[in-house]
Formats: sequence, structure tokens, C-alpha cells
Amino acid sequence: MIKKEQQLAEMGEETKMQQLRSKATELLLREDWRESIQAYSTFISLCQAQISKTHRESDPDNLSKLRKSLCLALSNRAEARFRLKEFRDALKDCEDALQIDGTHFKTLLCKGKILLSLNRYSLALGCFREALVLDPQCNGNLEMLNGFIDKCKKLDYVSRTGNFDVSDWVLSGFSGKCPDLGEFVGTVEIKRSEISGRGLFSTKNIDVGALVLVTKAVATERCILPKGEGDLGENAQLVMWKNFIDKVNESASKCPKTQHLISKLSAGENEDDLEIPDISLFKPETEATHVFPNESLDVDKILSILDVNSLVEDAVSAKVLGRDGDFYGVGLWLLPSFINHSCSPNARRLHIGDYVIVLASREVKAGEEITFAYYDVLSPLSKRKDMEKTWGFYCKCKRCKYEEGMQSKPEIEEIKVVLERGLDVGCAIFRLEEYMKRGVVRGKEKGYFRASFWKAFSEAYQSEKTVRRWGRKIPALEPLVESLVEAVGSDERVLKVLIRKLTKCGGGFGEMERAIKLGRGVYGKVVKKQAMRILLELGIEKPTLNGLAMLPKFSQNESDQL
Ligand SMILES: [Zn+2]
Repeated sequence: MIKKEQQLAEMGEETKMQQLRSKATELLLREDWRESIQAYSTFISLCQAQISKTHRESDPDNLSKLRKSLCLALSNRAEARFRLKEFRDALKDCEDALQIDGTHFKTLLCKGKILLSLNRYSLALGCFREALVLDPQCNGNLEMLNGFIDKCKKLDYVSRTGNFDVSDWVLSGFSGKCPDLGEFVGTVEIKRSEISGRGLFSTKNIDVGALVLVTKAVATERCILPKGEGDLGENAQLVMWKNFIDKVNESASKCPKTQHLISKLSAGENEDDLEIPDISLFKPETEATHVFPNESLDVDKILSILDVNSLVEDAVSAKVLGRDGDFYGVGLWLLPSFINHSCSPNARRLHIGDYVIVLASREVKAGEEITFAYYDVLSPLSKRKDMEKTWGFYCKCKRCKYEEGMQSKPEIEEIKVVLERGLDVGCAIFRLEEYMKRGVVRGKEKGYFRASFWKAFSEAYQSEKTVRRWGRKIPALEPLVESLVEAVGSDERVLKVLIRKLTKCGGGFGEMERAIKLGRGVYGKVVKKQAMRILLELGIEKPTLNGLAMLPKFSQNESDQL
């Protein structure tokens, strides 16, 4: 070792630098990012020292050679840092390299990739386009560069318009990688909420299925939980939780923006005194106009924040597309953390890879708070009250208030008894509907009760015996579904009962059209008709060929837009 150092010291500066450079390059090619960053850093310091010693006038050739080497080293260190997702430092290296040579192809390419990863699509596009102009042949990387340009254009477009389309992926049976979605923030703002602390509010009317926001997780962790209760499952969950916390910490430490935004989330205390962050902080491209301070978050605060804001993928108000197996996933998504619970929610989540899409599950009026269900709201008041206790809050939503005022009514009591004892569901529904018809319960409130007693409705409509016996005495399925959607938004379970009926009995063209419209409230406006139909029919047995029922087909031109 000592001998080696001596040898190094004896070598001329130039040879030493040459050796360092080849070592760094070798490490880079071996994809040993961490080590190569170290080697480049030493080289860069040496190089900078040499430059400051070299006289501009007396040795211009040497100076230009040194500056070229420095530029390339900075560019290569940027690449290694980019691979380690150390975007801020990587970007700084690119800036420094471009200061030396503003037309350095490799650096422009690397800078574009970093900006793309930071969701700054239009700036990234600028870098790639500049690189293409500089070297139209791109060192044989033309195809790759064009790929990046197309990707930036697409992501820039969807992040401005919210017009996502994953039809091809659905139609291909979710084969291949999950589509890369890009970030989108719709017409929403953060405001003080009457429900609790802060909430997300619409600033414009939002159509059913339109996207409220699309955002990538700060971190996610997934595992297959062992079947059954007990230590095995608990241990697996603990390990998963620990990995998840590590990943969140890692993401936060690498990106000041992420760190700053995590610190804005609720830690479950003094909800009403929390600052209201500006929505623009959560939009792509914000870094261009905003400098995020280097703060540090303490471990306890991160734990409390994760405790309050982490979302699981398999919640009732969520749907995961394209996942195979029994994966259990947890993640932290920043903006969705501001969405409060309501038993009469107007939004749902759709998970695609690490992205979450929040979509309107029914029409949302301008100024209305965006809410989704933290627990199953197709359940009676008493059960919901039990569930909110586990969540640690008291729900004061309109539906809870209304049902609380009505719960002592004998008619409602009677229905509960019928259901608890497992008596005739058809009869219970008949009585509920009769009671409501007498004019005591109107409009949306009917939907509240129907949602509370959904279990009975679902059993009744799926039992041929009940349908035969009660037929016209209980409401028809289609208007029932519409009233439920008006009260609690579209729900996959409700929709599946409807689709099953259409599949079995054969629905008319109009009925299927309406079902597909309702499907937008579950799967969002991210697929065209044919793909939507596939999603609706997932898990439903198709009628056999000799069966009477055949579903209406769409003609070619009807199949595109929803
Ligand atoms: Zn409620």
C-alpha cells in the first residue's frame, strides 16, 4: 500500500490524472456508480487545480485540453449521479459542464434525462431537441434520442390536459411494463376544510370520470402477505413497513422538493392550525420557479406523517390495474394525502404502477371538496361508526348527519332487524322502498339508505328466486344503480351486479352504453370504449354460444371516444 502511494507521488501530475480518468471511466462502464463518482470527484478537483495554475496566454492549448477533460468528467459524474437518482447533484454537474461547453452533446442528453425524471417535461424536451440539432446523427443514438423526444412531448401534453389513455395496455391484457403516465394536477386547490384540517377542492365543475390528479408515489413497497392471520403475516407486514420507511427517507434525502412537500403533510396533530400550501408547489415544472430549502425532517415526524398519510392499494375506493398475484402494496402520494374522507364521496383512486390517478366518481361542482372513502361506505351507519373509530376520527358528513337523525325511526329499525336475522331481503327492500315512497325520504337521501343497505340489494338482485318473487315490487336495477351513484359515486361492486345482469339477460345497446358511462366513474376517462368494456367484463362469465343472451357489439366508429 505504502509502496503504491509512493509510486503515485513519483508520477507526474499528468500521468496521475490520466490513470485516475481511466479508472473512473472503467468504474462507470462497470456500472459501479458510487465508486466512479468518487474517482471522478478526485479527478475533477485535480483538474480544477491544474486549470487555475495554467496561464491563459502562455499555454492556451493545455488549458483548452484541461477544460475539455473537466467538462467530460463532470458530464460522466452527472450520469453516475443520475443513475443513483441523485438528481439535484447530477443537475448541478450538468450545469457546470455546460458552462464550459454549452454544446456538449452527452451533457445535454444527461440533463434532459434528469429533467424528465423530475417531471419537467418541456425543459427536458428543450435539451433533447438542442442535442439533436447539434448532432443530427447523435453518435448512432438517434433512435434513443427520438424516443426521449416523443416521450417528453407525450408527457408534456398529458400533464397539461389530463388526457391520459391506457387503452392499448388494457387491450393487450396488461402485458409489458405499466405505462409511464406523467404528472397532472387538475382544477383543484388546497383550502381549509370543514371536514378536517385541510382538504382538496375543485375550482371548476368536474365531469364523471375526469381526472382530478395523477401523481407518482414518493415511495411504494409491495409484498405478498402470507395467507392467514398470525406471526407470519405480521412479520411480513413489519418488514414491509420498515422497507417502506427507508425508501421514503431515501427519496426525501435526495430531493429537497420532495422533502419540503413531505414536511407540509399532516402529522395528525393541530390539524386546524396547519399552513395551507399553494397547489402550484405540487405541479410539474415548479422547480423552475421555486427554490426549495435544504431542510431536515426528524425521524419521529416522518413516522407520524407516514402513519397518517400512507395509502394501501387494495382499499375499497381504489382499483389496481394490471397487477398480478396477491400483492399487498403501500405507498405515499403527496397531493392525495390532502383528500379527506366522506361517506358520500365524489372521487376514487386508480393505481397504475407507482402512479395514482384520482378521478371523479360522480359529477363534482365547482367549490366542492374532493373526498374519497377511507373505508367501505356501502355499509350501514352503525358499521361505519365502528370503522371510523379504528381510523381515529368522527365522520360529520352530510350522509352521517342525515342517517343519525333518522336512525331511531321504527321503519329503519325494522329493516335493520330483518337484515341482521337474515330474513327475506326482498321483503326488507320492499319495506324500505315503501317507507321512502311515503315522501319522508327524497332524492339523494334515498341513495344514502340504499347504500347503507346495499348488502340486501346486492343479494336480492343476484338471486333469481328473489327477483321472481318480488319483481316489480322492488326498484329496477338500472335506476337503483343511478341513485347509488348519485349518493356515493360509482362503485365497482354495484357496476358488476349491473353488468352481470346485462350479460345474463342480454341488455339493449342503450343499457350497455349507460353502463359504460358509469364505468368511467370507476376506471376514469383513461380508456376508450372497447378497453372500458374489457374492464367492466373482467371477472364476469361470458354467456355461452348456445345461450340466448348476446351482448350488443359496437361498430368500428363507435368504439373510440367516451
Ligand atoms: Zn360519514
